[in-house]
This record gives sequence, C-alpha cells and structure tokens, in this order.
Amino acid sequence: MNDTLRQLVQAFDRMAESYRLVADRVGRRLDELEDVHASLKDYVRQLEERSTQLSESNTGLCARVAELEAQARDLRQENEGLQALDRQKSDFLTTLSHQIRTPLTVIEGSLRLLFHEEGVEPAARHEFLTMAHQHVDRLIRLVGNFLSLTRIESGQIVGERRELDLSLLVKRTVDRLRPVAINRHLRIDLEQPPKRVLVQGDIEMLESVLINLVDNAVKFSGQGKVVQIKVEETPTEALVHVTDQGFGIPSEELDRIFERFYRMELPGIPKTAGSGLGLYVSKIIVEAHEGRIWATSEVGRGSIFSFALPRSTSFLHSMA
Ligand code: ADP
Repeated sequence: MNDTLRQLVQAFDRMAESYRLVADRVGRRLDELEDVHASLKDYVRQLEERSTQLSESNTGLCARVAELEAQARDLRQENEGLQALDRQKSDFLTTLSHQIRTPLTVIEGSLRLLFHEEGVEPAARHEFLTMAHQHVDRLIRLVGNFLSLTRIESGQIVGERRELDLSLLVKRTVDRLRPVAINRHLRIDLEQPPKRVLVQGDIEMLESVLINLVDNAVKFSGQGKVVQIKVEETPTEALVHVTDQGFGIPSEELDRIFERFYRMELPGIPKTAGSGLGLYVSKIIVEAHEGRIWATSEVGRGSIFSFALPRSTSFLHSMA
C-alpha cells in the first residue's frame, strides 16, 4: 500500500513539475506576445502619424493644384480678351480706313466736278458743296473721336479745364450741324435757359460729346423728323438732353451702345456709317468731368441721350 501511495505521490510530483514547466513556457510566451503587441501599437501610431502628415500635404497639394488651375483659367481668359481686343483693333483700323476713304472720295469727286466741269447749275453747285462740307464734318468727327481715344488710352483724358458756358457751346454745335440736318430734311429745335450755364471743362472734349450725340440723333432719324435739344440746370448740375424721333434702341442694347466699338446692327434699322466710338468716347469724357451720361429709348418712337455735368463751383460759391 505504501508503495502504491509513494508511486502516486511521485506521479503527482512529475505532473506538478511538468505543469510548472508548461506554466513557465506560457508565461514567457505571454511576455513575448506583450512585447510584440507594444511594438505593433507603436508601429500603428507611427503609421497613423504618417497618414495624417500625408493627408495634410495632400490637402495642401490639392489647394495648390486648384490655385494653379484658377491661374491658368484667368490667363486663358486674359489671353482670349487680348486676342478679342486685337481683332477689334484690326477691325477698327479696317473700318477707320474705309470710313476715311469714303468721305475723301466724295469730297474729291465733288471738288473735281466743281473745278473741271463747265456750266454746273447753281443748285447742283450748292448740292456738291453741301455734300463736300458734310463729309468734311464727318471726317472731323471721326478724327476727333480717334484722337480722343488715343488720349484716353494714354491716360490723358481731360486737358485744360476752364469755366465755359455750356449753353453757348450747345448753340455753336447745333449751328455747325444744322446744314447736315437740313440736307436730311430734319429740323433741330433748341431750348435753353435765358442765362449762361457755367461748367468747368475742356471745351474741345465737351464739344465732341455734343457733336457725337447730335450727329447720332440726326443720323438715326428718318426724314421730316425733329431733333430737340434742351439745356437745363438744377442747383448742382447742368444738363443737356438730345431727343430724337428715330428708330429707337431696344432696352437690352442701351448699356452696350456705350461700349467701345459697339454698333447696333438690327434688322429693320438701316446701316449707317460709324465707328462705334462716339458714345464710348463721350462717356469717358463726361465721366472724366465728374458727370453722368445715359440714354432712354423706345423702339419705333425715338431716344433721349442726356448728360449732366457739375455746375461751375465758382458760380456756386458766388451764390453762397
Ligand atoms: P457710331 O454712331 O459711330 O456707330 P456711336 O458710339 O456713336 O458709334 O453709337 C453706337 C451705336 O449706338 C450706333 O451704331 C447705333 O447703333 C446706336 N445709336 C447711337 N445713337 C443712337 C440714336 N440716337 N438712335 C438710335 N441708335 C443710336
């Protein structure tokens, strides 16, 4: 019995020994696994940091790409704008050459006839002279606008400003354009206040604004119509309104007609000679005088072109 017990105890001891061995091995394995786990955690943290850095630099890159794309788009637009301007300029030079040649041909033809033909009837003589005079006027307007454009583009818009009577300037311009109106069987009516209307300005520049507006009113009216010009003043402004009974301008074109080189070409409206410069130049001149210019119109009934300039301050001071 004792032997049996001893053998049992020995067997338990062996079992206990092998359990201890297994437990030691498992403990060591657990320590190793914890080390691996810690270094894996560290590795994952490093990966997360790297990923954050990468996504930050990716966001930066995306923003830079968007910026470069926007710059490229702007440059493309600018380039298209410059190309369009270049095309406009060469179209303008072609138109300008054509418009200079037409009146010159008429003037040359009229003068040649008057000089070389014997026995031209007085009525025909008068007609040729009127025609030559009108075309000289057209040339003056064209060259005047072209010179104004050159001054505008070189940044020198208004020359010497001095006090002038706008009413007198309007009257002089109307007298100058009256023969053109008579020849087109139009009447020009002028309404002015009885006293002087003083403004500060560059007389030549303001005269070209008036010529442009009155000439357009005459040009875009049919025969037998009336062009009405009114000068008036408010406590602060001097105003000129040029009203015609012409073809009128659709409302969507009213702003565009003040753009450079813009000429309205609509069905039913006869094509007239012009450069598309007059209103653009007029707007720049009026605005350089701290004034405003605008148009209202009704298709089929006519248009009113108006501009307002500040009244001469010396006059306002003398009122104070
Ligand atoms: P241009 O008369 O030399 O063509 P403007 O700049 O003076 O150039 O006028 C631009 C355009 O505006 C004209 O071509 C015409 O279509 C329109 N316009 C100007 N004035 C009138 C008017 N009084 N009535 C109708 N259309 C007008």
